[in-house]
Amino acid sequence: MKVGFIGLGHMGAPMCRNILAAGHALAVHDLRREAAEPLVADGAVWAASPRAAGAGRDVVVTMLPAPRHVEEVLIGPAGLLDGMDPGATWIDMSTSVPAVADRVRALAEARGVDVLDAPVSGMASGAQAGTLQIFVGGRADTCARARPLLEAMGDPDRILHVGGHGAGYTVKLMINLLWFAHLAATAEVLTVGVRAGVDLAMLRRCLLASPAASSFLEHDVLPVLERGDYDESFALALACKDLGLAVDLARATGVPAEVSALVEQIYRRARAQYGDNGGEMLPIKLLEDLTATPLRLSPPKE
Ligand code: NAD
Repeated sequence: MKVGFIGLGHMGAPMCRNILAAGHALAVHDLRREAAEPLVADGAVWAASPRAAGAGRDVVVTMLPAPRHVEEVLIGPAGLLDGMDPGATWIDMSTSVPAVADRVRALAEARGVDVLDAPVSGMASGAQAGTLQIFVGGRADTCARARPLLEAMGDPDRILHVGGHGAGYTVKLMINLLWFAHLAATAEVLTVGVRAGVDLAMLRRCLLASPAASSFLEHDVLPVLERGDYDESFALALACKDLGLAVDLARATGVPAEVSALVEQIYRRARAQYGDNGGEMLPIKLLEDLTATPLRLSPPKE
C-alpha cells in the first residue's frame, strides 16, 4: 500500500517503523522535520506538508496530540484533505472525540475520502513491538480494506471494529478514564495503608488476592513501586487532554460523572506541579510528596 503518516511522536515514529517493516511505501510529515530523519534513513519519503503527505496515497494515518491538531492538519493551510484522492482513506489514530471528527468527516466524505477513527492502547512500548490494541469506528468495509495496514501496527487478535464513526474514539476515552481512575484510587489506598503501618509489599499482596485486585495494581504500577519510573512516554499534558475529553463526553451524554471530574482535577494538579512533559503516573507522586511516603518495594533479597 502507499501510505502517508502525519505525527511522528512517541507513538507515531515506532508505528511508522513497523509500517516500513511490513513493506508498505511510506511518506511522513511532522512539524518537527528532525523527527522524520531516522525514518527517511530507513526508506520513508519526507513530505513537506500535510497535503504532500496525502498526494497519491491509498491511506493516510494521523497520530496527533489533540482534536485541534487533527483539524489543523486536515483543513488548515496546505491541509491533508486537499492532497487526498477520491477513494483514498484517512485513518485518525489519535485519541480524540467524535464531535470534531464529525465536522472534518463531512468535508472528507464530500471529496470521496473514506474515514475511520482507530485510536490505540498499549503505550509507546506496544507501538514499538507492533502489538497495539486498536479500536476502529466507521464502516465495516473500509475497516476490512485497512486491516492489512492496521495489522502492521497492532495485534491482529486485538484489532476490533467497535461500531460506527466515533465509536473507536469513545471506547478509547473510556479505557483511559477508567485507567486514570484506577491510578488515583490505588495511590490513595497504598499511601493510607503504608502510613497506617502496613508493609507495602504485604499490602499489595493482600489486595491482589482480594476482590479489589486490578491489573493496574498487578502490572502497571510496578515501574513506580520498583524504581520510581512515572512513565514519561505518556505526558501529563496528554493525560489531562484525554480526561478533559472524557468529561466533555460525559457532559454531552447527560451523565453525571463525579468521580471522573475529580480524577481530572487530580491530574491537573499533577500537571501544574510537575509540568506538561512529566509522566502520566506522577499523580502518585503528589501523594508521596505530600505525605513524605515514598511508595517503593525493597529489592528482592539475594
Ligand atoms: P507526541 O506529542 O509524542 O507526538 C505528537 C506529534 O505530532 C509530535 O511529533 C508533534 O510535532 C506532531 N504534531 C503536532 N501538531 C502537528 C501539526 N499541526 N502538524 C504536524 N505534526 C504535528 O504524542 P504521542 O504520545 O505520540 O501521542 C499521539 C496520540 O496518541 C495522542 O492523541 C495520544 O493521546 C495518543 N496515545 C498516546 C499513547 C502514549 O503512550 N504516548 C498511548 C495511546 C494513545
